[in-house]
Amino acid sequence: GNFVPPIRNNGGSTSNMTSRVIGKNDDSMGDSTRKCLEMLCGPDGELPEKLRNLEPRLIEHVSNEIMDKDPNVRWDDIAGLEHAKKCVTEMVIWPLLRPDIFRGCRSPGRGLLLFGPPGTGKTMIGKAIAGEAKATFFYISASSLTSKWIGEGEKLVRALFGVACCRQPAVIFVDEIDSLLSQEQQTDLKNWMKQHGGDLQNVYIFPFLHQARAWIIRNLLEKDGLFKLTEEETNIVCKLTEGYSGSDMKNLVKDASMGPLREALQQGVGITKLNKEDMRPVILKDFETALQEVRPSVSSSELGTYEEWNRQFGSLA
Ligand code: ADP
Repeated sequence: GNFVPPIRNNGGSTSNMTSRVIGKNDDSMGDSTRKCLEMLCGPDGELPEKLRNLEPRLIEHVSNEIMDKDPNVRWDDIAGLEHAKKCVTEMVIWPLLRPDIFRGCRSPGRGLLLFGPPGTGKTMIGKAIAGEAKATFFYISASSLTSKWIGEGEKLVRALFGVACCRQPAVIFVDEIDSLLSQEQQTDLKNWMKQHGGDLQNVYIFPFLHQARAWIIRNLLEKDGLFKLTEEETNIVCKLTEGYSGSDMKNLVKDASMGPLREALQQGVGITKLNKEDMRPVILKDFETALQEVRPSVSSSELGTYEEWNRQFGSLA
């Protein structure tokens, strides 16, 4: 939010500056593309070297769709995953904040691989890294490179790294990186890791433990002033949600929070006339009903695969 585009105000009009920087009379370039390139200009009003040979439309796509200047996630928003938070703080955040200390034998790895079932908080961790280190966050799904950006993936990645270089410190989060592996490589991850993962740290992000599930129930409901469960009731819900991921828990709380509303509407009051204060809080019964609808998204056999992988390549929890 405090970011100030590094464009020198030399008294000239914006359009003059743009034409000097980006090329005169380029009618094919829309206003939004021009604006976006202007934002990336250095204090001298010139487009940085790294961006000059890149296609403006790709730079614009990176700036508007991939870059997130204010990821707005902090460690405190992430339930559980204490080991992952500790590893990531030491491996990434400290080196970003104090590059002078992290040299020589303390040099950080080239990258960090977060692996684990979907919906467990990997993306949140990426955003929190950027948030905590005051870095710009770039999110790209590797599978979009092989589907949406067929034939242009390499150019887009070059544009992504170019823009990230101009927005340092930067965190580039590549989601679903396994989609870049061939079928053969996927079945032989072990060899792939040996060949390519030498300087890559691996951290396993696993589904929630009991305490973290309780945290998410309380946290989400408290935000809306709906948390009234006793400790014993919360424990019952936690016991019934073994193997639920963070996003499963979020969906469960969402569904349970509909219970009081559905019940109030059954009394015959229309949604527009309903008085919010007349709704009861969320109770254990709402969770029991929601549990019929929201099932865990990760099967125990899938979980076994991740755990085996963690034993071979992960950092010890
Ligand atoms: P992943 O990247 O592992 O697939 P995400 O980080 O995108 O999962 O999580 C999806 C959503 O689930 C988040 O936006 C958040 O609402 C919820 N969630 C998942 N894990 C956690 C967690 N550890 N703490 C709090 N919320 C979580």
